[in-house]
Amino acid sequence: MFSRKATFKGGTHIPAEKNLTNSLPIIRMEAPEFVYLPLAMHIGAPARPVVAAGEKVKLGQLVAAAQGFVSSNIHASVSGMVTRIEKRYLPNGSLSDCIVIKNDGLDTMAEEITPGKNHGEIKAETIRQLLLDKGIVGMGGASFPTHVKYAPQKDGSTIDTVIINGIECEPFITADHRILLEEAENVISGLKYFLLASSAKKGIIAIEDNKPDAIEHLTRLTRDEPNISVVVCKEKYPQGSEKHLIYAVTGRTVPDKGLPSAVGVIVDNATTAMQTALAVEKDLPCYERVLTVSGDAVNKPGNYLVRIGSLYGDVVEKAAGGITGDIGKILCGGPMMGFAVGSLQYSVIKGTTGLLLFSQNSPLAHFLAEETCVRCGRCLEVCPMFLEPTVIAKAVKRRKWMDAAASDIASCIECGCCSYNCPSHIPLVQYIRMGKQFIMTGGSGGCNPLFKN
Ligand code: SF4
Ligand code: SF4
Repeated sequence: MFSRKATFKGGTHIPAEKNLTNSLPIIRMEAPEFVYLPLAMHIGAPARPVVAAGEKVKLGQLVAAAQGFVSSNIHASVSGMVTRIEKRYLPNGSLSDCIVIKNDGLDTMAEEITPGKNHGEIKAETIRQLLLDKGIVGMGGASFPTHVKYAPQKDGSTIDTVIINGIECEPFITADHRILLEEAENVISGLKYFLLASSAKKGIIAIEDNKPDAIEHLTRLTRDEPNISVVVCKEKYPQGSEKHLIYAVTGRTVPDKGLPSAVGVIVDNATTAMQTALAVEKDLPCYERVLTVSGDAVNKPGNYLVRIGSLYGDVVEKAAGGITGDIGKILCGGPMMGFAVGSLQYSVIKGTTGLLLFSQNSPLAHFLAEETCVRCGRCLEVCPMFLEPTVIAKAVKRRKWMDAAASDIASCIECGCCSYNCPSHIPLVQYIRMGKQFIMTGGSGGCNPLFKN
């Protein structure tokens, strides 16, 4: 059916495991009693609170303002009362101040939000301002503030192509797939706004060939759009990685340590595009998102529209019917790039694509002890960044930070292909993440036990 299938070099084939939820329509979850909004839920500087404990807030009201250029606004995801601002952990182990709001159950919308508001003639500046005002960030997991991507290029270079990333190559996760099916018009509108904001002439919606229904749907809806096309990509992990996607669909190589804009491209996730359409056309800030809840320890796996700041525990209980059996592992995000967490006391942020719960019987919950490297070279073969994962991991284990840096640890995209294929169960990507943390923190190594003397 699809003659052209774009792909990249390296990478690996992994079971998609999406059949638990890929045919289940998005269901809106009842808002929880409390929401916890981390001020550092995006890349860049944490937002600065503009409300205080005891203050009443309305749904969609600005509660924390972007600080600096690379930062993002945060809005109340329920109406109610700010009870406190407290420190809480994020799944990646960092600490963030969080605004805690007690829901009054009324969902009283902030007066400043006027769906159908006339923005006048929509110009590039209008879109850029709305991206900032409405707190739009990359919702495929990266959480990079979207307005930054569409700011005029400092070096005067131009953008000719915007790619909508509808790949979703992480196993189990199906939220973007459902968005492509159920919110396709908004995804296309979002792409048109991105084209306007960047002055790019060409829009591409990239979808992996394991989603034929989405490919067909989007192809039909864009049939009469001369500057928008759907490109089918071969199912391979990590096809959704920005640099690999750009190579697959345009043949351009983003330079080492360079940005996509260096080759005239901007990539945005499908959910981000949908959220942008809601910001422009309905004046809505980003206060809810769709995430997949899946795994064999969940009663009702599904794709749920939840308020930002909802606790994982509330999502599992209120939306997914609670836990079944004994929990062996909880993952925030997918099994390849997500974070294992020890409880359900974390909050959903704008970049939370999924929540996976596995029972103690699941192979995904089993701990496999690290064995000696047998020098099979599989990690090298699959690395899509053409690194030597085993060399970097050895340098990290020996605390040879300069050696790790010389082996280009910084270029690792933490895709996990190396660890996944290692027959000796060496947690290569975990060593690499720890090495990066050590190098970034200038010696403390954060909370990692590896770095304790
Ligand atoms: S070294 Fe990094 S980029 Fe290469 S396979 Fe491992 S995790 Fe992926
Ligand atoms: S895949 Fe594992 S065993 Fe093979 S060379 Fe790499 S680290 Fe060694």
